[in-house]
Amino acid sequence: MNSGRDNYPELRDAVRELCTRFDSAYWQKIDEQRIYPEAFVEALTKAGWMSALIPEEYGGSGLSLTEATVIMEEVSRSGGNPGSCHGQMYNMNTLLRHGSAEQKKKYLPKIATGELRLQAMGVTEPGAGTDTTKIKTMAVRKGDRYVVNGQKVWTSRLQHSELMILLARTTSLAEVKKKSEGMSIFLVDTKSKGIDARRIRNMVNHETNSVFIDNLEIPAENLIGEEGKGFRYILDGLNAERILIAAECIGDGYWFIEKSTKYANERVVFDRPIGQNQGIQFPIAEAYMEIEAANLMRYKAAALFDQKKQCGAEANMAKHLCAKASWEAANVCLQTHGGFGFAAEYDVERKFRETRLYLVAPISTNLILSYVAEHVLGLPRSF
Ligand SMILES: Cc1cc2nc3c(=O)[nH]c(=O)nc-3n(C[C@H](O)[C@H](O)[C@H](O)COP(=O)(O)OP(=O)(O)OC[C@H]3O[C@@H](n4cnc5c(N)ncnc54)[C@H](O)[C@@H]3O)c2cc1C
Repeated sequence: MNSGRDNYPELRDAVRELCTRFDSAYWQKIDEQRIYPEAFVEALTKAGWMSALIPEEYGGSGLSLTEATVIMEEVSRSGGNPGSCHGQMYNMNTLLRHGSAEQKKKYLPKIATGELRLQAMGVTEPGAGTDTTKIKTMAVRKGDRYVVNGQKVWTSRLQHSELMILLARTTSLAEVKKKSEGMSIFLVDTKSKGIDARRIRNMVNHETNSVFIDNLEIPAENLIGEEGKGFRYILDGLNAERILIAAECIGDGYWFIEKSTKYANERVVFDRPIGQNQGIQFPIAEAYMEIEAANLMRYKAAALFDQKKQCGAEANMAKHLCAKASWEAANVCLQTHGGFGFAAEYDVERKFRETRLYLVAPISTNLILSYVAEHVLGLPRSF
């Protein structure tokens, strides 16, 4: 099945070719042992795909976000888990769009070669949850540095990244006029003193941590953009994250459809392929249509982002529709496989777990629905 692959054929072929070196056995082992797919991320970096968004002048390939989404889509469509490395793609945007010329010159070439990884982003806190403006992590300016204290949760890939984008309050909530003001973002060396990361064992093989920050010192030149405007910058980055994850869900969705179709054609029960039964065919067809439709919104959102136009609504809608569509396809795929869907060797149960994450992270369903209700439809603010 080649649906959804009618653009960027060379890019797709190159990424696909790399992914064939990391087969189902590789991902099963990584998942079973709960380890980081180091060899895969290394290969992706060496091939230049992890620096896709870095401009050529800094040693990257200068691709658009749309092209970056194609890379991530092909990874998930190959059966791999792009959650292990997608952080670099969207964190990169924060640095590219809001970083200073010195910061770009200092970090981007090293990120492009793979000497440094920018895979981690610390936004979520245990006490604030989705209500980001309530974060308590505080960065206080002391001479030429900021001293940071606080706690983050679900900070992914921190153990496998030299750099992290960190959101902290530089002015307390009580002192700001608007609650979205007074937060700043910093580029942090993850090996600094004052960072204690503890892994959270979770449903997917997604390396993620509770992070305790105790008198962490950050050089003042590592502040990204203007002090106090960090929330706006983070939102910009989150749009890129949502669009990239939408594309990963599309990759998952096609993977589930291909896997379902193949199995439905091959598996014979009651002397006929199960796919001959409409009870098996129709859910697969329905899930396929949902993937195709959601994919249109993914491209619309990515195009708006690349044109530097407002894309908050489209990025949210794309992530929501694509995550829903891939989750429906996951359920159909599991059902089509019957008992074998639960056997690890078929990969279905692993991909089922992996794609489920995207209805919760990086933003959960209800929050997207309330964004659309309020900001697109003009309904009253509910919180
Ligand atoms: C594997 C994994 C990796 C992650 N990686 C990162 C990372 O690298 N960096 C990072 O900063 N964060 C990360 N996160 C955090 C993730 O973004 C959050 O878990 C997610 O945004 C939901 O926030 P929460 O868990 O605090 O849920 P809460 O905010 O506690 O919400 C719980 C539930 O209540 C619902 N809810 C809350 N308020 C309302 C309301 N007013 N109306 C209706 N429903 C409401 C939510 O939709 C949700 O379903 C990760 C999470 C996971 C699970």
